[in-house]
Amino acid sequence: MHTQHNVFAVLFLLAVWGGSLQSTPANGADAVGKPNIIFFFVDDMGWQDTSVPFHTEVTALNKRYRTPNMERLAARGMKFTQAYACAVCSPTRVSWITGLNAARHGVTNWTLRKDRSPDRNHPVIQPPAWNLNGLSPTPGVARTVHAVTLPMLLREAGYRTIHVGKAHFGAKGTPGENPLNLGFDVNVAGHAPGGPGSYYAKNNFSAAFRNADRIWDIPGLEKYHGTDTYLNEALTIEANRAVDRAIADGKPFYLYMSHYAVHAPWEADHRFLEKYTDAGLKGLPAVFASMIESMDKSLGDILDNLKRHGIEENTIVVFMSDNGCPSNLPRNLPLRGHKITPYEGGTRVPLIVRWPGVVGQGTRCDDYLIIEDVFPTFLEMASVAEYEQIGGTIDGVSFVPLLRGEPPADPQRPIFWHFPNTYGEPPYSSVRKGDWKLIYQHVTRKLELYNLREDIGEEKNLAADRPEKLRELAQVLTDFLEEAGALLPTDKQTGKRVEYPIAHVEDSP
Ligand code: CA
Repeated sequence: MHTQHNVFAVLFLLAVWGGSLQSTPANGADAVGKPNIIFFFVDDMGWQDTSVPFHTEVTALNKRYRTPNMERLAARGMKFTQAYACAVCSPTRVSWITGLNAARHGVTNWTLRKDRSPDRNHPVIQPPAWNLNGLSPTPGVARTVHAVTLPMLLREAGYRTIHVGKAHFGAKGTPGENPLNLGFDVNVAGHAPGGPGSYYAKNNFSAAFRNADRIWDIPGLEKYHGTDTYLNEALTIEANRAVDRAIADGKPFYLYMSHYAVHAPWEADHRFLEKYTDAGLKGLPAVFASMIESMDKSLGDILDNLKRHGIEENTIVVFMSDNGCPSNLPRNLPLRGHKITPYEGGTRVPLIVRWPGVVGQGTRCDDYLIIEDVFPTFLEMASVAEYEQIGGTIDGVSFVPLLRGEPPADPQRPIFWHFPNTYGEPPYSSVRKGDWKLIYQHVTRKLELYNLREDIGEEKNLAADRPEKLRELAQVLTDFLEEAGALLPTDKQTGKRVEYPIAHVEDSP
């Protein structure tokens, strides 16, 4: 077995080395034919915040928003109607880049300042010692998860790894704040914070103009300062230039196009605002709509650049969002809840994959998957077969079979969320298995059970009606939390750790 691995490794290295000797490949790929991969990632965009319908019918929000380039991508690729992320930024980002579930990596809330948690004081619950410093590429940094990253592995496989936009992987003052420490060859505008100071270059992308903390100021885009350029536009220009350089250098590329949009601060892109105010929208809803279309224009510009280079056929494009829509924006009906909550409005996000020659055009997949699946999926796309995560476990499962139109290997595979934090919404752990979803509320210790096939809006709690299903999912969730080493909060009144969900099956609801 070891011999086979060694032979494989040698062949693999020869293949990569051979590729690098090819001086000018015409299509931006190396000799082993590795496809370019673009991960186009949007911040805080809900499942319905697009003109592409991800529900079984066209909704009011689908009619409100204009995302013609998402429509173009979906027409050439596959859209996933049940793709999930975590309900908040950093957990999602650490999951895709490590392949680990949030319960295991422990970065369960958003990160910013070293050794400081955004958690708020709660009368009942004290959050656990979660990894508030985020992801670390080096061991020994307190309150971080030390892990191998997807871009590190892609770089080893010969890829030019390009980071553009929002990073939000590690706290300021730790190694994980800088994408260059996480396996990226190039970093444009990424650092510790999860939001921009401003979307306007005339404000130097700085928070200073609104008297906010300068920690939010975006680094590295000084050449745009004082101009009329909107942030999404500047990032797109820089992303396309980095792609141009990778092609000129004969390297396959991995572009992580990670938009700050459509996260707060909500500032209109005036190129698109008027059509929404003309349509009768006012205030924040109109501003938000302009930001959605601005983000979509970026997608179009990146797709056009691929076309210009003639590399569409050899470039995989994956469009996704990192969590649901915030609560001050229109609810993503028919879904319940919003960003941070355990409900579908917090976790179900748009996902579209274009992969010429593999993914059928205009296809749709209703099987579910979760954010950590991105890690093994992209490695399979890149034909990277030999890798290992620190700790030996990867929670993600490749969804390449789904992209090929095959059924899921395990339609009853359980997927998990874990948020033991006190930030805006009550803490919880939850699991989806098949059509069923169980939510364990850490404050009340109540269990909620929903059948998503029959009740996508999670309106009817079936905990009392289906005691066997309740027990089954509570056990699955308990076993996972235990195995993953998930940290649970403490009950301030008893001084004891919150129990696993299985302890509360009898007293729910
Ligand atoms: Ca987010």
